[in-house]
Amino acid sequence: MARAEIITIGTEMLLGQLVDTNTAEIARALFEIGVDVHRETSVGDNEVRIAVAVREGLARAEIVICAGGLGPTVDDMTRGAIAAAVGVPLTVDEPSMRHLEALFARLDRPMAENNRVQAHFPQGAAVFENPHGSAPGFVIEHEGRAILALPGPPRELFPMLRDHAIPWIEGRFEPDAAFVTRVLRTAGVGESDLDARIADLFREQKNPTIAMLAHPGLVDVKLTAKAETRAGAAAMIDELEPVVRARLGDCIYGVGDVSLAGVIGDQLRSLALTLAVGESCTGGQLGAAFVAVPGASDYFHGGCIAYADQAKTSLLGVSPDLIERFGAVSEAVAAAMALGAQAALGADVALSTTGVAGPGGGTAEKPVGLVFVGMALPGGSVRVRRLDWPGSRDAIQRRAVIAALTMLWRELAIRPAARG
Ligand code: ATP
Ligand code: MG
Repeated sequence: MARAEIITIGTEMLLGQLVDTNTAEIARALFEIGVDVHRETSVGDNEVRIAVAVREGLARAEIVICAGGLGPTVDDMTRGAIAAAVGVPLTVDEPSMRHLEALFARLDRPMAENNRVQAHFPQGAAVFENPHGSAPGFVIEHEGRAILALPGPPRELFPMLRDHAIPWIEGRFEPDAAFVTRVLRTAGVGESDLDARIADLFREQKNPTIAMLAHPGLVDVKLTAKAETRAGAAAMIDELEPVVRARLGDCIYGVGDVSLAGVIGDQLRSLALTLAVGESCTGGQLGAAFVAVPGASDYFHGGCIAYADQAKTSLLGVSPDLIERFGAVSEAVAAAMALGAQAALGADVALSTTGVAGPGGGTAEKPVGLVFVGMALPGGSVRVRRLDWPGSRDAIQRRAVIAALTMLWRELAIRPAARG
């Protein structure tokens, strides 16, 4: 099994001005071909420090992947640093020089002298073409190990990784394992409850492994199997999945690349129901979650943001008396908002949110984080859920959206499908 290290290069990253996304992309790609990533490093634009990092990586791993610093400017030092690390000079690659000249001719711009450095590579390197930019990547082998250099801009790196770097690694280092991952997505149960339900499986399972990833209000359960072949790994997951489902079945809303709003969309479509929203504290985020799903016009009528008391009255028909008596953040108002959205937008079902998102405006009776989520159903029945979790404004709003989605998903899951 080949081991790899990833080195990202760029002072911007060390200054916190740039968030590194290349490492994650490279790590995911290596994982899929069974290459273990043992270490990830970031260094600034300094030739000596890059060379040291490369040399250290080579001492521990068969594969070192560098990302960034392949451009034409003085702060782009990756080429020279790698040449120094393996003790070879930089030499011109004629095809790359022709490619650069052709590129500039097509742009009708004279090629600056410093652009020529992009056709220089450590002697013995094999060049990876870059159809999305001017800086080619390369791979050079050294004492049975390999150093790969990829450009920094993600729109150049991602395709080069997929089209050149990964195939090169697969050809050179025979992978002896394959991994398959399956993500079961759950809603409506907290991480600790979920943990309690499957903790024993967790502890026993070494391969496949079970991992939990918590998002606000949603928890993903990730099953990962390692085997000699992909088919073998998939078979192991097929065996484990029903065991996990037996414990969590009622809170799994989907598998893999699905969203809760998307699943609700499928439910609404198959039940032939339409939907509307009336939002206060979520300010449109609930509606946005539904509209993010392609084809939402099949069932989503729309919504309104009724933030001020007066808007709750004029847009959703909430009686001023109700607001006066119970306050805008109350079970009664959440219910009235849901019924109001249902009527105003002519939908079969409607969701509403009203709450204290903070950071100011909380009271002992109605603290920051108190949210009521309403759901109006066909036939005029209405339900309200009360949430009381403190947190940042952003977190409170996101949790309110998830709570509303979860409430509707659960309700629709127990309805028989529409006929016809
Ligand atoms: P260029 O020819 O554009 O100079 P380069 O290979 O020299 O390419 P860098 O100079 O290191 O790459 O980075 C160029 C830009 O690419 C950065 O300003 C940044 O926008 C993006 N970038 C670089 N590294 C990363 C990274 N690790 N994650 C996300 N974006 C990155
Ligand atoms: Mg650069």
